[in-house]
Amino acid sequence: MAAPGTSLGMRVITVTGGATVTATMKLRATVQRQTILEAVRESCDHPTAEEVHRRVRLRLSNVSLGTVYRNLALLDRAGEIRELHLSGEPARFDGEMAPHDHVRCTRCGRIADVALGSVAELQAQAAERTGFRVDERRIEFIGRCPDCRRQAGN
Ligand SMILES: [Zn+2]
Ligand SMILES: [Zn+2]
Repeated sequence: MAAPGTSLGMRVITVTGGATVTATMKLRATVQRQTILEAVRESCDHPTAEEVHRRVRLRLSNVSLGTVYRNLALLDRAGEIRELHLSGEPARFDGEMAPHDHVRCTRCGRIADVALGSVAELQAQAAERTGFRVDERRIEFIGRCPDCRRQAGN
């Protein structure tokens, strides 16, 4: 039989009041963050914080919108996801970390990823011609998505 405090997982948390609460809160925070990360990574639709919140609540009913905002910011800083600022839009979140750009539908708001080989070259040119160190780029193509084009007949 294992001695108290040496067994795996939750059994380790057998100390007294305060410590148990802290450990439980930490575990809860970790589960929340992981669920929020998964909600962003699983979807390729660049959800807003509100959309992430809706999806996370299907799995964890007690998560507040504030918690979602806080964790999205943390995950962005940690380089796990990317916060996108596209024109005239609330911030959206991207689980795809490879460099890519976006094309946005003006009719339905859908945002698709697009990988463009020569953009890295343009970025290098921007840096070279201005002396800036370019850390980030925001390129957005705007138009109508295939579904909207079909519906509109063009
Ligand atoms: Zn569309
Ligand atoms: Zn993207």
